[in-house]
Amino acid sequence: MTPKEVEAEMQKMQRMYPTYVSQPINVGTTRQGRHIQMWCVTKDLVDCDKKGRPAVLYTALVHAREPATLACVLRFVYKVLEEAKSKGSTSYSAHLLANRKMLLLPVANPDGYAWNAATSPRGGGMRRKNGLKSCTSSGNSANDGVDLNRNFGYKWAFDSIGSSSRGCGEEYRGSGPFSEPETQAIRSVTQKHRPGAILHWHAWGNDLAFPYSYQWQAELSKAELYLFQEYAMEMTARNHYASGRAWEVVGYTTNGEADDWGWGAEKVPSFTLEVGSSRDGFWPSPSRIAPIAEESIWPATYLLAAAGPQMQLDSLSVVKAVSATSAELQLTLQNNGQKEYWSKHNACIRTRGKGNVHSSGPWQVNNVGAACVKFDALKSRQTHTLPTVTVEWEASTQWAELELGVEQIGGSLVSTFTIRLRTDHSTLSSCDDRCICPQSADFHEISYSQECRAKMKIGSHCRVPKPARAGTNYANGVDDEFFTFTATEYKSGGSCHVGTSQRDTMIAVYADCSRVGGQQPVAFSNSEGHLAQVDFPCTSGHEYFLFWNAEYVPGRHAFSVTEKCSHNCVRAHRKRERLLRRSA
Ligand SMILES: [Zn+2]
Repeated sequence: MTPKEVEAEMQKMQRMYPTYVSQPINVGTTRQGRHIQMWCVTKDLVDCDKKGRPAVLYTALVHAREPATLACVLRFVYKVLEEAKSKGSTSYSAHLLANRKMLLLPVANPDGYAWNAATSPRGGGMRRKNGLKSCTSSGNSANDGVDLNRNFGYKWAFDSIGSSSRGCGEEYRGSGPFSEPETQAIRSVTQKHRPGAILHWHAWGNDLAFPYSYQWQAELSKAELYLFQEYAMEMTARNHYASGRAWEVVGYTTNGEADDWGWGAEKVPSFTLEVGSSRDGFWPSPSRIAPIAEESIWPATYLLAAAGPQMQLDSLSVVKAVSATSAELQLTLQNNGQKEYWSKHNACIRTRGKGNVHSSGPWQVNNVGAACVKFDALKSRQTHTLPTVTVEWEASTQWAELELGVEQIGGSLVSTFTIRLRTDHSTLSSCDDRCICPQSADFHEISYSQECRAKMKIGSHCRVPKPARAGTNYANGVDDEFFTFTATEYKSGGSCHVGTSQRDTMIAVYADCSRVGGQQPVAFSNSEGHLAQVDFPCTSGHEYFLFWNAEYVPGRHAFSVTEKCSHNCVRAHRKRERLLRRSA
């Protein structure tokens, strides 16, 4: 698609859905005089010129050579519009259009995109940056321009790892923060509309990144981390992209980056979705465009919902197994969205198929056999634990199926959750919140079972990493990899060392990792042009998690793990020594 074709496509969308899609809104003018155009999509175009309805800002083509991002934003918006039309006013899409606002910047870097279209009309243009003559006097080189995703005004030019002061550099950050009209446009839209979230589409990597990028030591508070981890987990529930802070998923630290600014300066949850795999690269084959775009629909939809109030089942636990065919459950709900609810809620739970819900205390059974309870309107991020409820199922059932509906009294939309509870002994007697399958489908469908842990992808998740041993280990370099290592030598005073024989490799070590993607590491090495190595204090018996990334260089990459005495060491007793002493 050329820039003109994009405009024609948006005009077509506007003609098809005139009450939902605005005319183009100029939000800036580029170095070469092109308009930076935004479209507003919401029912009856309410608040398109001002702050109001909860909004999400979506950008594509910030980097001009990432055209798959354009397909992603178009596919997503068409999907919401088409579904609202075909399924009617009670559909989820219709609800989103009536209660949320999408702000679209489908061509966030018009000059760079036009340069690629002009020099490589059949695709394959490799300019990433904007239209500034930063490298040649003609401005006619792929190396000209400012990397817009290094030009944002939070920790701009923090260091020269991942951003550059050289005009010809691929990551040239510009002459100052927000020196470029394209980043100024994103800033002014954000400050005018105060969106509940921002999503920047980029390519490639099959991952979802969140702040902070500028430094590995940059900490998110516990509440911030929960927010980002939770959103990231839900957004990647269907496409199984990796998620985490930018350096965890992309493999390097950067500064002047859009998400760091979105959260650091504006407190708007801001995400970067890197679509497509290493094989797809910047210009995927035409047959891959539709599947890549399809993978973006759910994360974009989830974020749109989360920009307003959004009900979610936060946790589920079996309080006690009453018998082999009944159990007492506790359910906690959360408004995990960015806005508060405005009226009381009514939650109703019933079994699907044969089975009963026994109500007691505050629960009241309604005329269709569901137990219902009312509670106060939830503020943004607030949780509410429902009184315990007893459910009963048929002896022959392996999974008890429950339906939980939560409505806002006086409101129209009911959030419905399907809960499948495994009825075997081990689930009922020993399960904790880890039993929830986090990646089954999305937050509306929850399975609770002891077997769920085993289903997680090996090596992709901290709970099921590959084992690493003292001595030499190997990584394959294709993807982010996780290893676990248990120290054995010193009860105190010991130090562990992880070293590579590979340049441009990133290593992070976590001491207590239940979920990688935002945890604070105990050691970190971001080696640009040198060998990565880290040292960290380690204690025998303790498990450490190693995160290893070689920027997608496939091969057999050796890394070593060694333990040594740092100072005042107390040696751990080995099992063998204990055995010897006992026999003596
Ligand atoms: Zn990019």
